[in-house]
This record gives sequence, C-alpha cells and structure tokens, in this order.
Amino acid sequence: METLPTVLLKPGEADRIVAGHPWVYHSSILRLTHPAGDGAVVQVKDHRQRLLGVGLYNSKSKIQVRMLAPERVNVDRAFFDERIRAALDFRRKHLPEATSFRVVNAESDFLSGLIVDKYEDVLVIQTSARGMDDRKALIVESLQALFSPRAIVERNDAAFRKFEGMTESNGVLAGELSGPVPVRFEGLIFEADLKSGHKTGLYLDQQLNYRMVADLLARSKARDVLDCFCFQGGFSLHAARAGATQVLGIDQSEEAVAVARRLAKANGLAERCTFEATNVFDWFKSALPPNERVLPRCDAVILDPPSFTRNRASVPDALRGYKEIHLRALKLLRTGGTLATFCCSHHVDATTFMDVILSAAYDARRVLRRVAQFGQSPDHPVIPSIPETEYLKGYAFEVVR
Ligand code: SAH
Repeated sequence: METLPTVLLKPGEADRIVAGHPWVYHSSILRLTHPAGDGAVVQVKDHRQRLLGVGLYNSKSKIQVRMLAPERVNVDRAFFDERIRAALDFRRKHLPEATSFRVVNAESDFLSGLIVDKYEDVLVIQTSARGMDDRKALIVESLQALFSPRAIVERNDAAFRKFEGMTESNGVLAGELSGPVPVRFEGLIFEADLKSGHKTGLYLDQQLNYRMVADLLARSKARDVLDCFCFQGGFSLHAARAGATQVLGIDQSEEAVAVARRLAKANGLAERCTFEATNVFDWFKSALPPNERVLPRCDAVILDPPSFTRNRASVPDALRGYKEIHLRALKLLRTGGTLATFCCSHHVDATTFMDVILSAAYDARRVLRRVAQFGQSPDHPVIPSIPETEYLKGYAFEVVR
C-alpha cells in the first residue's frame, strides 16, 4: 500500500473519533507529516501515533478530515459499492414498501459529504465535501450498477459548498430527464421537481409520519383539518384520504400550492382539499383578530414549519416563532382536537421544543395529552454518537380541555 499523508491530532482530540464521530476540525490538528491535496485520502493518528483510521482531507473546510473507516481502506469503486449496498439493505429492511427514499444520508451511512435520494427510477446526488465531489464519477458508476436508474441528477446548489471551496453545479449526470418525476407515497401520487424543487425534490423524511398522522386523524374522526406549511400537501392529502372532508393547506410558496392543487385533483381528493398561498403567521393573525372571540373550529392542526434557525445565535427568535404558531393553533382547536407538530431544527432539541409547546398551551389555557411521538423516517438514520444526524422531532397531542 502507498504511504498516506498522516494527520496527527492534538492530545485529547481522539476520543470523539474513536466513538464514531467522523469530523476532524481544523482546531484538533497538531500537524500533517506530509502535505496533502484537497480531496485526498489521509490517515489520522492520535498524538501517540496510534492509527484512528482514514478519511478525506480538505484544507479549505473547517472540517478538515471526514473519516471514512477506522482502518486502512482503499476508497475505490468496491468501497462505494459496499457502503451504498449496505445503506440500501438498511432501507429495504426498515422501509420495505417504499419506492422513493433516501438511499445514502451522509454521516448516518458513514459517507460524510454524500447524499443520494431515490425518486422511483431516478436518483439525485449531492456531494457537499470536496473528497466526495472529486469521486463523483466512481459514485455514479456504483449507483448505475446497483439501481440501473433512468437518470442520475446532481443537485449541488447548496450555499454551504462555498465553505468547502467548491462551486455550484447542477444537471443530469447520466441518462435523460425531462419534467418532474411522479412519486408514490403509499398509493398517493406526488411530484418531485429534481432540477429546482425543495431539498432534493420532496421531504422524504416525513414519509412515515404522513401515515401515522393520517391514522391518528382517522381514529379521532377529524373532519376539519388545517395543514400549516403544507408544501405539496403531504399531510393534507393523506388526511383527506383518511376521512377529513375539509382540509385547508397553507404555504407561502405559490408554486408549491399550485402543485398541491394539481395533486389533490390527480389523487381524486380535490373536493376535500383547499390550498392557499399565504404566510402562515399572517393567516393566523387574520383568522384570530385581537379583541375578538373566535370559536375554535378545527378538529386537527398540523404544524410543519421550516427550520427557523440556521445557527445557535438565532434560536431565541426561532423559539418566539414556534411559540406564536402553537399559541394560535391551540386557539383554533376544538376540545378533543389533535395537534400534530414538528420541529426540524437540529439546534432546537426535543426538550426545548416541548417547553415551547407547554408555554403556548399555558397562555392559551389548554391542557394537552400526548398521543404520539415522531422522528425522521428510517431512511434518515440517527447515529447517537453523531448528534448532528438527529434533527426532526414531532409530537401529536389531544386537547383535553
Ligand atoms: N409539510 C411539508 C414540508 C414543509 S417544509 C411536507 O411534508 O412536504 C416547510 C414549508 O414551509 C415550505 O414549503 C415553505 O415554502 C413553507 N414556508 C416557509 N415559511 C413559511 C411561512 N412563513 N408561511 C407559510 N409557508 C412557509
């Protein structure tokens, strides 16, 4: 085997890596034994020269090494074949019926810097680290061998690429693609716009929660349902199919709302669903004018806002936003109604999220009974020794009084 440049860590910096966290920060590094090119494979050792494993180096990133394995491995086609196959086996085991799902979720699958999503017969890849970006051709070969997809699309338009010293890059890497891809979640049809849609196309992380929330609403015979931050109506359409007769979905994106209306028709649910392109905060204000008594009228409210936080500093503002929507949702809910609420910010943990909900419930003078807890769907696995892999949490409550 060729000798690899060695990254030596400062004393005390090895424990996290030994525990399975793959990020070596610039500040943890004592020195390099030889210069390493950006994107190159390096070996990482502790200050006593004990091998911690190999990873991909990038001098331009705050995360200077992304670990790939605790031993010497060749980062070649066979390596990607094996890792991606293992990731796929995990999905087949835990989401056996899904036809669209996240195949590779970066750190959750021990491939830091790589995301691969499957939308039926089309794959989307995102390479957010230099070492992965340099190996795109190998990854594409691997994916072709495993899936024989109709097309493989690259969605490398994320702003954070500049922190890795990489430019934006979008387009079809293999095969052909025109127009959005029809996607099925449990028999309902959605649309993934793989060239410019949200995330890589759809919010795959909510896939199982659509069904769980719809089941809850069916059990409580919810008819009048408000779906806030609905995007294409993932929760709305599932709720309507489960028996809700008056579903209102709200999203500020005109484009998303236009798709939601089209999908309601395509799924035969247009009579039960209405969608409005409005800011949820403004909508709540006009539905609940100050100094006016508004009779609670909703059987269920779903809150699935975007992450209001980009970093720790913006957490207090985000919490005010979370509190406001919960307070207003609780004012619109009938006694016995259901609140299903989600938080996708990694910086707001489950305890803090619950505190905000309780504080809104106090102000609204309502008492809640928790009836379900949610997380990200199993194609976004959580590795507890890598806290960053956990971000989506949610609860469902019944309003007791
Ligand atoms: N529930 C959706 C995903 C929601 S993602 C699903 O399962 O597919 C968050 C959505 O909130 C995005 O579609 C975004 O357009 C919308 N959004 C962001 N801020 C908003 C606001 N202030 N008012 C209304 N919609 C907003």
